Amino acid sequence: MRVPIARGKGRARLGSVHALRQRQCMKYLRCQICGHETFGRADERHLWLVAGSEPIGEGEESSSPPVHESCAAEAVRDCPRLRKSHVASLVDTPLLWGVAGLVYDPETLEPLPSEADDGLTHVSFADPQLRWTVAARLVVTLHNCTAVDLDDLVAAAA
Ligand SMILES: [Zn+2]
Repeated sequence: MRVPIARGKGRARLGSVHALRQRQCMKYLRCQICGHETFGRADERHLWLVAGSEPIGEGEESSSPPVHESCAAEAVRDCPRLRKSHVASLVDTPLLWGVAGLVYDPETLEPLPSEADDGLTHVSFADPQLRWTVAARLVVTLHNCTAVDLDDLVAAAA
């Protein structure tokens, strides 16, 4: 999906996702808030923060990039979906899996409906539907996850 690039211009729209920045954050494991790498923890894991109340499951798909402990409080404060409810997990192995996007019917060339709240369908890189998808986000699967209490983690980091 094409998006304008104008660093330093305009204001943050925290309810929406910038496709290019999201892709860069996922590919290089950069923080979704500050944009810097999330490498450097002693345990070599990355913190994932996801909207919802269910713990992150083994192999769960996510289009949310990782976040620093120091940036997590800002994410929760400013993101409407995370503010409602969120869970955190330290992830050992995030793997690039596919994309989230608009899938088009090859016969009618009409977009197919999505069951997700954001209107996007997750499509793996191995799925033949990938060639009929306009990707909006990169998706990873999360492996070797350990659920953590975000407040404890932030307090320990401070
Ligand atoms: Zn950060």
